[in-house]
Amino acid sequence: MKTVWEKLNEKQLTELMELSEDYKKFLDKAKTEREAVAQSIALAKNAGFKEFKAGKKIKSGDKLYFINRDKSLALFVIGTEPLEKGLNILGAHIDSPRIDLKQNPIYEDNGLALFDTHYYGGIKPYQWVARPLALHGVVCKKDGTNVIVTIGEKEDEPILEISDLLIHLAKDQMAKTGSKVVEGEDLNALAASMPFKSKKEEKEAVKKNLLDILKKEYDIEEDDFISAELELVPAGKARDLGLDRSMIMGYGHDDRICAYTSLRALLEAGKAQRSYACILTDKEEIGSMGSSGAESDFFENCIAELINAQTEYNDLKLRHALENSRMLSSDVSAAFDPNYPAVNEAKNAAYFGKGISFNKYTGSRGKAGSSDAPAEYVAKIRKIMDDNKISFQFSELGRVDQGGGGTIAYILANKNMDVIDAGIPVQNMHAPYETASKADIYEAYRAYKAFLKDMK
Ligand code: MN
Ligand code: MN
Repeated sequence: MKTVWEKLNEKQLTELMELSEDYKKFLDKAKTEREAVAQSIALAKNAGFKEFKAGKKIKSGDKLYFINRDKSLALFVIGTEPLEKGLNILGAHIDSPRIDLKQNPIYEDNGLALFDTHYYGGIKPYQWVARPLALHGVVCKKDGTNVIVTIGEKEDEPILEISDLLIHLAKDQMAKTGSKVVEGEDLNALAASMPFKSKKEEKEAVKKNLLDILKKEYDIEEDDFISAELELVPAGKARDLGLDRSMIMGYGHDDRICAYTSLRALLEAGKAQRSYACILTDKEEIGSMGSSGAESDFFENCIAELINAQTEYNDLKLRHALENSRMLSSDVSAAFDPNYPAVNEAKNAAYFGKGISFNKYTGSRGKAGSSDAPAEYVAKIRKIMDDNKISFQFSELGRVDQGGGGTIAYILANKNMDVIDAGIPVQNMHAPYETASKADIYEAYRAYKAFLKDMK
């Protein structure tokens, strides 16, 4: 089977490299779900999208978006057919594994001030130590104002770090199993070491100095951390990987890589017959629960609002719209890694450079937890891919009973619509830096566009 690189023409290869450059810029500015929402809204506005306003009728050709708590987003292109006939939906998640600050994070220990943390999503804690970390997030104050925080991305800004034990004294540590080498509760980030200047003897002078800096530079008090969402993420930018520049290494490919390509596909979609949607959701890495996760009624409510703005609303129309919809659950899959071949079954693994990867099912222990796309739907998908000359592969997340994982696919499938997982293969998924092939990014983008246009 020829790779994407061999199949594309010169014009497409140029477009592929341009898309990769645009994606890297997006990724650098979208390191949290809130930042991803803000960046996505900016791109949508540029493409002529407007925020939905209740009370105004909608018509075909309208480009609209709904924001949910600044943490998730749903965008729509209204088609010529009534919404009751169903939508073509692309759904990705914009949260990524990271290290969150606890609600009471600051403490001093032997002359050092630290932030205590609680990790978010499935991580190998040992991967997050001894590396530059940036602090991103929001502090919501009692007076209703929010302080947006980004520390550690510009070269002249300070960074934070979670220390690791020196190898010289690591005899006991190195004998531990991987999950115990660094334990979750021990992920404490070093934040300051200079004491507060004072004539009298100060208790916890380093913590006091840190609080003094937070007050002066950010107008944040210690109590304000209670109502904050502060995330430690790898500092620095996404970079080209490989001497041939064929890959990108960056923080948070899972799943901003599918979010960005899905969003671009929607923003560039032409006139729609069936309506189009793109859902960018939060909380996937911790089970999709809550108001900003895919389990929330948010998306369904958006469709109800749109039906109400298109025609006379009734519940049956909403039910029809949902069950007549088709969706690609745009989420990353595991790329074959020559360093760890044993975890895959070669015929059903995803490979760099072979295009978008579909997973008919995910789950673990006998497909448990997976929605398993109907074969009839898979046949339609294959046809669209072939008709549009898009490189695609069908894969599974590893050998049977090796592990597994899930996506948002089953949540929308439970609303009785056809859903299949479709995304970009990545190496070192959930590590601070993940790797993907530019060829697959481009093919996913083309696949998402083809799906919107051709799915009936
Ligand atoms: Mn994912
Ligand atoms: Mn994930």
